[in-house]
Amino acid sequence: MTKKYKTFRGGLHPPENKAGSAHKPIEDCPLPAELVIPLSLHVGVPAEVCVAPGEQVLKGQMIGRARGLVSVPVHASTSGEVIAVEPRPHPSGKVLEAVVLRPDGADTPCDRVGEDQVHDWSATELLERIREAGIVGLGGATFPAHIKLSPPPQKPIDVLIINGAECEPYLTADHRLMVEQAEQVVRGSDIFRRVLGAKRVCVGIESNKPDAIQAMRRACTAAGMEVVVLATKYPQGAEKQLIFALTGREVPRGALPMDIGALVQNVGTAAATAEALSSGMPLIERVVTVAGPGVAEAKNLRVRIGTPLAHLVDYCGGIRGNLAKVLVGGPMMGAAQLGLDVPVVPATSGVLLLREEDLVLRPEGPCIRCGRCVQVCPSRLCPTTIAAYARLGRMDEAKDYNAMDCIECGSCSYTCPSAIPLVQSIRHAKASILAQRKKH
Ligand code: SF4
Ligand code: SF4
Repeated sequence: MTKKYKTFRGGLHPPENKAGSAHKPIEDCPLPAELVIPLSLHVGVPAEVCVAPGEQVLKGQMIGRARGLVSVPVHASTSGEVIAVEPRPHPSGKVLEAVVLRPDGADTPCDRVGEDQVHDWSATELLERIREAGIVGLGGATFPAHIKLSPPPQKPIDVLIINGAECEPYLTADHRLMVEQAEQVVRGSDIFRRVLGAKRVCVGIESNKPDAIQAMRRACTAAGMEVVVLATKYPQGAEKQLIFALTGREVPRGALPMDIGALVQNVGTAAATAEALSSGMPLIERVVTVAGPGVAEAKNLRVRIGTPLAHLVDYCGGIRGNLAKVLVGGPMMGAAQLGLDVPVVPATSGVLLLREEDLVLRPEGPCIRCGRCVQVCPSRLCPTTIAAYARLGRMDEAKDYNAMDCIECGSCSYTCPSAIPLVQSIRHAKASILAQRKKH
């Protein structure tokens, strides 16, 4: 009999393609000759540069000051010389201001603060340390963690959810982190629990990661946290879908998880918080999966922020075959890149390399009203209708059909037998609706 795991409505199960890296221990990627550290490492206001070309900096030293509430400081990923502060290509597709650093090879850290005092700190002190360490959501959203962990008093959080689903094909960075650093993930989760005063802490992991489930169960039991096994289904790791699977609570349209007493943090964010608060070293690195048929060897790498993607690919043995597409992230929600010169940022969960023969280009046909896109949509939308309105430029109607609730998971496009670019049209509608809102 097949075991019935918790899950959400809709979704699909694309080929997992994780075998190439799921069993590979995390390796430390060597430092590159040049680091390009953008001042926009997070959602919100970019940091303001506080170093100048020619200056020597130490590992962990602040090089960009937070500006405003939704902002975090940016730190040097190693010691060396600032050689430029200038616009450089960013994985978002834009060209954004960055600090270019030439490592000196010594990796000398700046003065560390606060080692081993984590247990004595109040919730307010913990939040301040999290902000100072530049911690942002490493699940892809890169929202400053101290803001997310500060819901208004009238919206108490009773359940803290730690996201270990990692449902995107190819990606195995979170999987390896849970296997190799389960204690650290739990320590970080405990810091979040103390800040929020949450009664229940629940770690959600897909059933295709039995070794991660075992390691996390071992670490969670003593800390009074639960591990819940979820069905292997895409997009199981999406925030609202994860909350529903674990609690049965539904986040209403237009509302936030905190409106129903829930808050989600990624396992990588938890591990990074534990590391930063116990060592005093801010967020200067993350684990990245390099995978796909276009790379010689798939690996999970611990990489300094600012390392160019080309350096990661070289470390993995270089390009294999006729490289046609580079994605930052997974194949479902990843962002296509123009080249390998963009740097690793906190949102870089993976780098996926595809060859020409891996790209299936199907000609677009007419909608045959099969309803498959409606069936798989985890947000319970009608993708075919919203996309049709978007293509006609009728954005008010697209809005009426709740286009803004689309989480851009791509399930509708993936399943459409007529190869209609549904998510692309809906994304366009969302951008137009937002632009309209800003005007008024
Ligand atoms: S409409 Fe949006 S949320 Fe629904 S399946 Fe398509 S991309 Fe995903
Ligand atoms: S899946 Fe494609 S063909 Fe089927 S209803 Fe949706 S848009 Fe039309």
